[in-house]
Amino acid sequence: MYNNFKMKSYFFETYGCEMNIAESAAVEQLFIARGWQRSESAQTADVAVINTCSIRETAENRILGRLGWFSGLKAVRECKLGAKTKMLEEALEYVKDGPKPLTLIVMGCMAERLLKSFQKDYPFIDYVVGTYAKHHFSEIISAVEEGRKPFELDDSEKYRFASLSAEPGAFSTFVPIMHGCNNFCTYCIVPYARGRERSRDFGKIVSELETLKEQGYKEVMLLGQNVNSYGLNNEEGKTFKDVLEAASDIGFNRVRFMSSHPKDLSDEVIDLMADRDNIEKHLHLAMQSGSNRILKLMNRPYTIEQFLDIAYKFRSRVKEGSLTTDIIVGFPGETEEDFEQTLDAVRKAGFDAAFTFQYSPRPGTKAASFDDQVPKDIVSARFDRLLKLQNDLAYKSNEARVGRSYEVLIEGISKAGAGTYTARTLSNHLVNFTIPEDILPKGCLEDLEGRLGIVKIERARPYSIDGVLERFSDV
Ligand code: SAM
Ligand code: SF4
Repeated sequence: MYNNFKMKSYFFETYGCEMNIAESAAVEQLFIARGWQRSESAQTADVAVINTCSIRETAENRILGRLGWFSGLKAVRECKLGAKTKMLEEALEYVKDGPKPLTLIVMGCMAERLLKSFQKDYPFIDYVVGTYAKHHFSEIISAVEEGRKPFELDDSEKYRFASLSAEPGAFSTFVPIMHGCNNFCTYCIVPYARGRERSRDFGKIVSELETLKEQGYKEVMLLGQNVNSYGLNNEEGKTFKDVLEAASDIGFNRVRFMSSHPKDLSDEVIDLMADRDNIEKHLHLAMQSGSNRILKLMNRPYTIEQFLDIAYKFRSRVKEGSLTTDIIVGFPGETEEDFEQTLDAVRKAGFDAAFTFQYSPRPGTKAASFDDQVPKDIVSARFDRLLKLQNDLAYKSNEARVGRSYEVLIEGISKAGAGTYTARTLSNHLVNFTIPEDILPKGCLEDLEGRLGIVKIERARPYSIDGVLERFSDV
């Protein structure tokens, strides 16, 4: 046995989307419940968990690079001769009295997608936990505690939702309400890595929301690859509008959600967003392309005209709402004309912000085998043009807020500099603000995370807005 005199510790490295963050938090709860402590460094932890993402090749390559580093770390921790020691000084110091092995666990989409190849070619990984095998974590923790050898996992079962995915001590948290995806957009790995769509039981969602409210969480984000198809695949008869309404009724200061697919966003959801003060005035609606020809090749079942109709409806119904999107540049076969149509649609929708991606062929997806892949230099030039347009729109959206006062939810101290805090408006605009001395005297640093305040906006920046706190609004 090793580490008899120290509390056992775990380290997490999480890549990718909000679902991964929520799933890491749920697994972290299991470690905490067993009396383990979080470690900020993998070099001295007993267990390191890497939660992986497969959405684009760049994400996978980065993680594969990290796995190389972890293999070196494991060798150092086992005091193996010839171990690579670059950037592992902390681990070297930690094992100066003898080996202290590290258990390395890889979970998430790459673990699911590359399960067999990880098991065969990466023998230093102790457990490869696919998206359907997460329920084995309690057993894995027991095995580590008892010093047992890694055992084989059965991932043949259906997906299980964790009962609680909240990060302890936070004011805001994710609540998964669905898992997987049935849409099979031709570029996307998600339906392969996460399987078919599954809605979580309505009663279990409500009970988690009630627990979170009792625990003092101010904000929840309802999560799913396509939250608007909630309930379509089970018999409870509940829709996403019911989940959203329930979360709003429970009385959080803020209820957020993502992602929405244009094909099944209902008018009732837009109406609810407009009518409820605690539902965010922000809709993230992935457009992907402005060309009907490309949308068809992507297997996105809407036209750009239908997409823009929803955008206009949202703008007219939800006062001061913000609309954000995802766009892929360089999908196979995209011509200059298709791309111009995307720019045109971006202008018409006037997105407040956008996640823009260069198309990345994913093995096993339909589009990866399409013939006319667009050359990298063309993709990159189009990407820059799109970014420039979107940055101008984002700046305009920020500029339109100047001179007005908004309620914000405070997230903490800002990276912008001393005495500055960071927060978000109900429309999800990022705000950096200062606090006048008559509200909070200098040197009197308070923990303001999760507090609500009214901020007067004074200046727009490309990705944020600056302001001054007028008062706290939660006292
Ligand atoms: N389910 C969400 C939807 O359809 O709105 C999207 C979830 S996906 C995790 C996030 C975004 O990644 C997608 O909207 C798409 O823009 C982007 N994406 C997915 N596959 C991609 C690929 N192969 N190359 C580039 N971007 C990709
Ligand atoms: Fe991927 Fe399309 Fe499903 Fe979104 S809707 S997760 S882009 S397959």
